[in-house]
Amino acid sequence: MADGTILTATRPKWAAKSSDSMEYLYRCASEGAVNNGLKPTCIFEIKLEEGPHNCPICGNELQLISNGLTLSEILRLGQREVDQKKGTNK
Ligand SMILES: [Zn+2]
Repeated sequence: MADGTILTATRPKWAAKSSDSMEYLYRCASEGAVNNGLKPTCIFEIKLEEGPHNCPICGNELQLISNGLTLSEILRLGQREVDQKKGTNK
């Protein structure tokens, strides 16, 4: 059961002072078509403060991606792993 306790238990006390730097990247966790099939998939993402959030597009729960990396950075890291795995052709 994902109840968000991991996401809410990690903020250090000092962080409360810096209101502009404690945002986390969230991404819609829905799979498959949303909005009655109007969208084949929902990849909505947004930076928000930690806590439970829901996708404004499809209403699904937003999933915490990271607290630092942008999505493009995550994708790049993932791609690098893929390259390393398949990678001795060159
Ligand atoms: Zn969504």
